[in-house]
Amino acid sequence: MNSIDLEFDRNHIWHPYTSTVNPLTCYPVTKAYENKICLESGEELIDGMSSWWSAIHGYNHPELNTAAETQLGQMSHVMFGGLTHQPAISLCKQLVDLTPPSLQHVFLADSGSVAVEVALKMAMQYWHSRGETRPHFLTLSHGYHGDTFAAMSVTDPDNSMHKIYKGFLPEHFFARSPQTGFRDEWNPDDLSDFRAQLAQHHATIAAVILEPIVQGAGGMRIYHPQFLYEVRQLCDKFGILLILDEIATGFGRTGKLFACEHADIEPDILCVGKALTGGYMTLSATLTTQHIARTVCEGEAQCFMHGPTFMGNPLACAVASASMRLIQQGHWAEQVKNIESVFSRTLPALTQYDMVKEVRWLGAIGVIETVRPVNMETIQSLFVRHGVWIRPFGKLIYMMPPYITPPEDLSQLIHAVETALQQPDCFLP
Ligand SMILES: *Cc1c(COP(=O)(O)O)cnc(C)c1O
Repeated sequence: MNSIDLEFDRNHIWHPYTSTVNPLTCYPVTKAYENKICLESGEELIDGMSSWWSAIHGYNHPELNTAAETQLGQMSHVMFGGLTHQPAISLCKQLVDLTPPSLQHVFLADSGSVAVEVALKMAMQYWHSRGETRPHFLTLSHGYHGDTFAAMSVTDPDNSMHKIYKGFLPEHFFARSPQTGFRDEWNPDDLSDFRAQLAQHHATIAAVILEPIVQGAGGMRIYHPQFLYEVRQLCDKFGILLILDEIATGFGRTGKLFACEHADIEPDILCVGKALTGGYMTLSATLTTQHIARTVCEGEAQCFMHGPTFMGNPLACAVASASMRLIQQGHWAEQVKNIESVFSRTLPALTQYDMVKEVRWLGAIGVIETVRPVNMETIQSLFVRHGVWIRPFGKLIYMMPPYITPPEDLSQLIHAVETALQQPDCFLP
C-alpha cells in the first residue's frame, strides 16, 4: 500500500509548470542521500539534476545537517530589521570573500527570482539617485531570470509566454543571443546586435542583465567568453551597469568559481542562489559595489527599498555558510574537472544518433540537444527504469549532477540517455 497519497497530489497540488487538467506522473520520494534519490517503491535513482543546480554537495550531507540542527537549537528565525546574527554575518563574509573583489555589499533575498528583482531595483534606484530616469534593461534572447514579474520581463519572451502578460510586463530590449560556442572560433559579428541596441538605446537603459557563459533554462546554451568580455567593455563605454545572474552558474558549476571568471571580468551587481545552501532551502543574495550601494542610499529614499519578512533567515544562513565552507575547502574544482572530462569523453559519441542535433558541455554541465521534443511521460519513465533521475525539457536532455557523483554513476547517467536516444517513443513526432 502506498503511504504517499498520490491521488491527493494529482487532484490538488500544483507542481512547477504543470497542468491540473492533465497532470503527468510524479514519482514519490521518501529520502535522498549523497547523489541518490530514493523512491517510495524502493528504487534508488542516480541524480543527474542536483535538484535544479542546487544540491552540489549531495543530499543529506553530514556537515549541512549539523549546521541546520545546531542552528535549530538556537533559533530558526528572527526578523532582520534592527536585529542581526552570526549566521548572516558569517555567510556574508564568505560571500564577500568568494565573489569578485569589487562586490562589497550583500542583500540576502528569498529566492533566485527575488535576487533578480532586487538587482533590477538596485540599478533603477542607482539612476534615480543620480537624477536620471532609465526605465529599460537590455538583455539577451534565450535568457532566463526567474518567474516573478520583473524577472519575467527580462526573460526570453517566447519561453516565458510574454504575449499573455502583455500590458502587465514592462517592455525591455532583447539582443540576439551569442551564437559562438564556448570552444568555437570567436566571431566578432556575434556582438553586432547587442552593440547596435546599446548604441541606440543607452540613454534609457539602466543596466544590462545576462547569464554569464551559460544560458540555462532558456536553452542550455554555452557561449564564448569573448562575448562576455566585450559586453563588459561596452557597458563601461556607455556608462551602463552590468548585472550578472549567476544563480545557476555560481559556486563552481562551470569549472570556475563564478562563470564571469572565464572572461576575467567583474559585474556591478551579482545574483547568486540555487547552490548557495547546497540545495537545502531557499536563499539567494544580490551583491554590489561600494559605489552603487552608496549612490542608492544617498538618493531620495535614503535607503534601499526592499526588505522581505524572512530576510536573512538564520536557519538558511547557517546551512548556506556550511555550504560555502565546503566550497572554500576547494574540492569542487577537482570534482567538476573530473565530471567535465567524462562529458568530453562520452558526449561527442552520442552525435551518431539521428535524434541528436548537438552536444555541448562545460564543467559539470552536459547537454544533448535533440531534433524533436521529448515525450516527457515516456522518457521520464525510461530514465526511472534505468535507475537515473534526469528531467529534460523541450529538445534538451541535460545533466548537472552533484559534484560528488562517482564516475560509474556518471556512466550510468550517460548510458540511460544513450538508451533513450534510440527509442523513438521517447520523443514527440
Ligand atoms: C533558477 C534561476 C532563477 C530563478 O531562481 P528561483 O529560485 O527559481 O526563483 C533566476 N536566474 C537563473 C539564471 C536561474 O537559473
